[in-house]
Amino acid sequence: MGKAKARGLSLLSGGLDSQLAVKVLERAGACMECIVFETPFFSAASAKKAASALGVKLHVVDFTDDEIALLKNPPHGFGSAMNPCIDCHATMIRRAGEMMSRLGFDFVSTGEVLGQRPMSQNRQALGIVEKTAALAGRLVRPLSARLLEPTLPETEGLLDRDMLLDISGRRRDRQLALAAEFGLSEFPSPAGGCKLTEAGFARRLADLMNHEGLDNRRLVDLIVTARRFRLPAGSSLILGRDEKENAVLRENSDLGIFMECASASGPSAIVPRLVSESDLSAAAGIVVSYSKAASSAEPVEVSCLRDGARASVFAAAMPRDKSKELQIF
Ligand code: SF4
Repeated sequence: MGKAKARGLSLLSGGLDSQLAVKVLERAGACMECIVFETPFFSAASAKKAASALGVKLHVVDFTDDEIALLKNPPHGFGSAMNPCIDCHATMIRRAGEMMSRLGFDFVSTGEVLGQRPMSQNRQALGIVEKTAALAGRLVRPLSARLLEPTLPETEGLLDRDMLLDISGRRRDRQLALAAEFGLSEFPSPAGGCKLTEAGFARRLADLMNHEGLDNRRLVDLIVTARRFRLPAGSSLILGRDEKENAVLRENSDLGIFMECASASGPSAIVPRLVSESDLSAAAGIVVSYSKAASSAEPVEVSCLRDGARASVFAAAMPRDKSKELQIF
């Protein structure tokens, strides 16, 4: 009887390193499946594309509750924006470890490269991830494995350490050579894709967290949609930028006060939680200013749907420089 094949579960973002990790482990004889964690801030689209090109099964896991808990309280803090990368990554690996135990895999793997990212992939950060994820020697980083302590699958003879690699540092030449060797041609940039790393997005998210909070999942989902304003008395306004976003807001009209111009075409809008009636006039002024009736000499009727009852507010367009002061960029 031949030796049983090791079964590995690899974190796949779709980036080059995560794809190479799968290829290197398959070349070392392991049978691989992949896992990706999806949130409103990070789409699984690249991972799905990569999994299909690699021909591996992909487990897509909703990670939103974990991510929101980390946004509220990141034990190792944030990166340059609102990205709790060390804890986020460790928690993903912990969740992958739980799936490993449940589905009978032998190890979890990642495409991490020692020293590639000064903050999150130095030896200490890799150690924190390993400890937090509590995988007890079953976390394999095939691209840098020969520079790290042997893992259990290696010492147990399931993975041949000599078939694993010793890449370190920020240069990409070895990865690009391997990509050519494995015939990989499509991979997004390594840092791209996560909105939590974008400064403007982080400002909008921090504003939501500090005012309405992050407990309403539908409000969090809407954070990637539309312009956002913080009105003078403290309510917020979410304003559609195009027909697609207006349709999303219409679908979520029960999230607060839903507003649209009654007889002119223009954006849809939602005020999730009205702090003061004065904010309703300000919100209507902004809705009018982005509508076709913005230059009207007369106040424009804005229809407001509130707790199932329809009412009207009449407002003149708020001057654009004033609304820009209220917009969260
Ligand atoms: S970039 Fe985003 S998804 Fe990736 S570890 Fe950081 S916070 Fe998590």
